Amino acid sequence: MNINSAYQLAPAGTPPRPGHVGRHNDTEQLPDAWLDYGQDDPLEAYRWISACAACGIRPVLPPQAKSVNCACGSCGPVGQSIVEAVAGWNASSLSMPQSYRDLPFFHLADLQPLQARSHLIGLVAHLKREHAKMAGRVDRKLPVSDLYRTTLEAFIAWATHGLDLIRAETAGTAAESLAA
Ligand SMILES: [Zn+2]
Repeated sequence: MNINSAYQLAPAGTPPRPGHVGRHNDTEQLPDAWLDYGQDDPLEAYRWISACAACGIRPVLPPQAKSVNCACGSCGPVGQSIVEAVAGWNASSLSMPQSYRDLPFFHLADLQPLQARSHLIGLVAHLKREHAKMAGRVDRKLPVSDLYRTTLEAFIAWATHGLDLIRAETAGTAAESLAA
């Protein structure tokens, strides 16, 4: 999935196509491969909830949930969306630790922390520029699909979460300067 191509294909209401890889036409020079975010739908956040650290069970979320609440009583932070809720839970000490390598997006599994960090910083900047463009369309009363907006915001949340995971994973190591 590629948020640029999703936008070009579907500014007015058609769902983005999972797995579609298009050419980016931004002035920035991100490698094309970076703009393929993977096959999974970022809005299906319930699929990637980390198990509860207290009871070992993966909490089950209703689709509109804004926080992860485990049956054992552990409650994660409230987010603006289900993605933020899951990211907040996964990043907290309430859940079992995760690695950025386990994120299903952005093809991070084989990257070293420094590479993954640089990759994600580039992507977050790119996605935020796309978000600003979208906001410009809204200001000009041009059509913007809700699905495009929520998908874009979900990718931003996952990429930001990936940076948090890298920071947590490299804290206290020689790569501590990553956290700057
Ligand atoms: Zn629990």
